[in-house]
Amino acid sequence: MSINVIGAGLAGCEAAWQVANRGINVNLCEMKPHKFTPAHKNKNFAELVCSNSFKSDRLNSAAGLLKEEMRILGSLLLQCSDNCRVSAGGALAVDREKFACLVTEKIRQHPFINVVEKEIKNIPRDNITIIATGPLTSESLSKEIFNLCGGLLSFFDAAAPIIMAESIDMNHAFLASRYNRGDNNSYINCPLTKDEYENFYDELVSAQRVNLHGVDVQNPKIYEGCMPVEIMAQRGKDTLRFGPMKPVGLIDPKSKKRPWAVLQLRMENIEKTLYNMVGFQTNLKFGEQKRIFSMVPALKKVEFVRYGVMHRNTFINSPKILNSDFSMKSEASIFFAGQITGVEGYMESAASGIIAGINAVKRLNNEKSVVLPPETIIGALCNYISTACCGDFQPMGANFGLLSELTPLVKDKKARYEAFANRSIKILKESCDIL
Ligand SMILES: Cc1cc2nc3c(=O)[nH]c(=O)nc-3n(C[C@H](O)[C@H](O)[C@H](O)COP(=O)(O)OP(=O)(O)OC[C@H]3O[C@@H](n4cnc5c(N)ncnc54)[C@H](O)[C@@H]3O)c2cc1C
Repeated sequence: MSINVIGAGLAGCEAAWQVANRGINVNLCEMKPHKFTPAHKNKNFAELVCSNSFKSDRLNSAAGLLKEEMRILGSLLLQCSDNCRVSAGGALAVDREKFACLVTEKIRQHPFINVVEKEIKNIPRDNITIIATGPLTSESLSKEIFNLCGGLLSFFDAAAPIIMAESIDMNHAFLASRYNRGDNNSYINCPLTKDEYENFYDELVSAQRVNLHGVDVQNPKIYEGCMPVEIMAQRGKDTLRFGPMKPVGLIDPKSKKRPWAVLQLRMENIEKTLYNMVGFQTNLKFGEQKRIFSMVPALKKVEFVRYGVMHRNTFINSPKILNSDFSMKSEASIFFAGQITGVEGYMESAASGIIAGINAVKRLNNEKSVVLPPETIIGALCNYISTACCGDFQPMGANFGLLSELTPLVKDKKARYEAFANRSIKILKESCDIL
């Protein structure tokens, strides 16, 4: 007996790993390198299509707690990320090439994983199958899923540009991490004066955008957490100064003052030859990206290795379709995992793959599904995905708002977050015997 996993992205790799580590054979089907989605470029598995950051690694943050829970559950991706980490203050960021390479190597070397390089157009019904084909699932399979699920939902997600380190003018930039967290050389900060910021802002909001087929380009339905910088800017002149260009916690060593606004650049690779424009996901035309981003003094001669892009992400109406173990309500042998279920984010997608993998094996062995306690971030996400109000189901990332309140209540925010984390880890460790 074996289990099929379709898609060797973040969720698919985690799912295959969990299944294989339980001694069950996996057919991991991936269409790369024969066919690529519009956002994927690398032939390796677990490709990060935009940012190279897995967000905060601090335990008293929802993103940090999610990762800690995944470590407890034996996450392959977190194991690999420790070996290709790049400095990013309090965040966990990786060298994306090395990361994808390492995950691929581990998957290909696993004796229970059989990699099938092929686009899957029809959902296999021979074995238990986990569909983890992501927000950009190929067209033929999307049609099948559409029919199986009675429709698909969608929103737009954008990616930020990557630039060459040698093209950054360090005379107009400084190294620091916000509030001196972690390694203080983590970020390159490109400061702007008030006049520079306002000129930049005026050009940004009026710049030309790429036409999205059949969509109102000024008002596409986008995910709040990954909003294109030009759309965010439309909300008001200072919105970026309270968002991706916030200067708080940064002092320019030249002026000894906090700049008016700052564009931060995060290391892309261990060699420090490439940098990612933090929070600058965009749908501007490529020429406009070059023209406008080079108005930032440190980026006057900026060279892009990848421009920002925006894509339509599709997902299923999970509360109607899925159980909290990620199996279908209508067909118990089909599971979904990853962004296609409406979890939002790299680590959330990967975490859902872990749970789908564990439960696919439980299904194969006719055992009871594993449902993690709602006091854990992963348990709360599974609960949200399978029970949220169906009317306008929207993607959801890890956040403390998903967790049930503490008793007794803890008023201080920092203490509350720490208490959430301690409670979750304790409960998860106690539940490990059911895995
Ligand atoms: C443009 C864009 C930018 C994003 N930026 C971020 C970000 O910065 N941070 C963040 O946390 N999240 C981001 N996301 C959201 C999300 O976290 C990622 O999409 C994440 O990669 C989802 O993981 P996944 O495993 O569900 O899908 P994917 O990682 O996309 O993996 C799906 C895999 O399935 C394969 N596949 C597709 N169809 C088939 C088929 N028919 N047969 C076989 N194989 C198939 C694909 O080739 C791919 O390898 C972004 C998404 C998009 C589209």
